[in-house]
Amino acid sequence: MTEKLSSFPGGLVLDGQKRRSTQTPIRQMPLSKKLILPLQQHIGEASVPIVEVGDKVLKGQKIARAEGHVSVCLHAPSSGVIHAINEQPIPHPSGLSALCISIETDGEDRWIDHQGINDFTQLSEHELRQRIRIAGIVGLGGAGFPSFIKLNPGVQHHIDTLILNGVECEPYITCDDMLMREHANGILDGIEIMQYALQVKNTIIAIEDNKSEAISAIEQALTQRKLPNTRVVVVPTRYPAGSEKQLIQVLTGKQVPTGKLPIDLSIVCHNVGTSYAIGRAINHGEPLISRIVTVTGTDVKHAGNFEVLFGTPMDELLAFCDTKHQPGEPFILGGPMMGYNLSGVNLPVTKTANCILVGVDNAAPQSKPMPCIRCGECATACPVSLLPQQLYWHARAKDLEKTQEYNLFDCIECGCCSYVCPSKIPLVHYFRFAKTETMNQQQETLKADHARIRHDNRQDRQELEKKEKQERQRQRKAALAATKAAKEKEAAEQSDEVDNVENK
Ligand code: SF4
Ligand code: SF4
Repeated sequence: MTEKLSSFPGGLVLDGQKRRSTQTPIRQMPLSKKLILPLQQHIGEASVPIVEVGDKVLKGQKIARAEGHVSVCLHAPSSGVIHAINEQPIPHPSGLSALCISIETDGEDRWIDHQGINDFTQLSEHELRQRIRIAGIVGLGGAGFPSFIKLNPGVQHHIDTLILNGVECEPYITCDDMLMREHANGILDGIEIMQYALQVKNTIIAIEDNKSEAISAIEQALTQRKLPNTRVVVVPTRYPAGSEKQLIQVLTGKQVPTGKLPIDLSIVCHNVGTSYAIGRAINHGEPLISRIVTVTGTDVKHAGNFEVLFGTPMDELLAFCDTKHQPGEPFILGGPMMGYNLSGVNLPVTKTANCILVGVDNAAPQSKPMPCIRCGECATACPVSLLPQQLYWHARAKDLEKTQEYNLFDCIECGCCSYVCPSKIPLVHYFRFAKTETMNQQQETLKADHARIRHDNRQDRQELEKKEKQERQRQRKAALAATKAAKEKEAAEQSDEVDNVENK
C-alpha cells in the first residue's frame, strides 16, 4: 500500500552524485599507527580522561568517562599505548585545537573482554539507556547528540512513533545507503532495542526513492524478522527531506513548532547508523569505536565507503582512496550543501564525520557576490518558510535582535537559499555567523550576569559580616560595661559593708 505523504515548503531537487561511491562494498580502512581522539565528539560536555600517558589499552577499553548529564564515554578504537593527552587540531570550521587522547597502536588490534546480552528485555529501559551511554553512542547522522537522552522521553511524554532516518538527502553522501544495503539486520537489531526502550506503538523506516537497493534490503530483513508495527516508507527524493523536522512533516503532515522538539509531537527520530551502533552495543557488547565514512568527489580515484576507526587521520584515509588531495590542502567535511571547508594535517575522523568530499562536479566558479536584486528566490527555496533576504540584511548589518525577530534559529543551514541566489550571495555563511555572534553575546551576557550576581553576593556577604562584627563588638562592649557595672556595684556594696562595720 502506498503511504499518503505530505510535503514541506521549498527545497530542491539536486543531482545526487551517489553512484560515484556506491559501486564497491564497504571496505575496511587499515589500522593507523596513531589514533587521535578528541574528548568532545558529541553535543554536550566533553568526556574526561581516565587514563594516563604510558598506559596500555585494549580495543574497546573505556579511556574517558562521561561528564555531566549531556555526555557519553569514549573508548580506545584499537590496542596500544596512550601516547599523549594534549591539545591537537580538531575537524571544526573554527580551525581550533582541543584536548585529545592519542594512542600509539600496537598492530595487534586486541579486544578487551566484552559480551552482549542474550535477551535485552531482561534489562529495564533505564539499564538499556545507561549501557547505550557507556557505549559512547551519539547520533551518527551528523549532529552527535547523545542517543540515550533521545531514548528517555520522561514521564511527561509518551512516544507514539519512532522514525528511523535513512533518507540521506544530501548529494554525494552514501554511508547510510551502503549500511542499509549491507547491514539491514544489524539496523533492525537496534530498532528492536529502541522500540523496547521507548515502548512505541509505531515505527517508520524512511528511505528516499533513489535508494532502491537499500529499500529492498531493509524490506527483506523486515519480512524475515516480522517486527510488529514496523514499516518502510519511501519518500520522494528532495533536499532537505532528511532534516528531522522536514522528514516529520513529510511522514506525518505535522510541523514541529518553533522552539519545540519532535518529542512534543510524541515522535522520536534516530539515524539508521545510530540504530546499527545500538544493536552492536547491546547485543554484542561493542562500544562505538568506528563508523562508515563516504570518501568521494571528482578528485577521488577510488571513491567509496569505508569502515574507519575513530581517530584515524583523514589524510591517511584520503591517501588510501587515491585522491589528488595533498596533506594540508582544503576539503569538505560533510556534503556540498551543509558541509564545511577544512584544511590541516592529522585531523582525525570523529563520530560525526559522515563524508569527506574532495572536488565537486559542476562546482560554480568562485564568483564575487553581486548585490541582492530582491528576486525572492531564496524565500521560495527555504524549507522552513523563512525570509532569507531580510535575514541577510540584518545579519550583514549585525542587527542581531532583528535576525531573532526573523527566526534566525529556525534556520537549519541547509544552504538552499545560497544555492538558488542569482547574485551568488553566500547567505548561509551570514546566518551561521549571526548565530555564532548571538550565542557568543548570550554567553557574554550570561557571564556578566553571573559576575554581577557573584559581585552582589560578595557585597551582601561583606555587609552581613560587617553587621555581624558590629553586633559582636556591641555585645562585647555591653558585656564589658555590664562586668564593669557589676564590679563597681560589688565594690560599692563592699564599701557600704565596711562603712557599716566601722560605724558599729
Ligand atoms: S535570492 Fe539572492 S538576490 Fe534574490 S532576494 Fe534572495 S538574496 Fe536577494
Ligand atoms: S539556509 Fe536557512 S534560510 Fe537558507 S534556505 Fe535553509 S533554512 Fe532557509
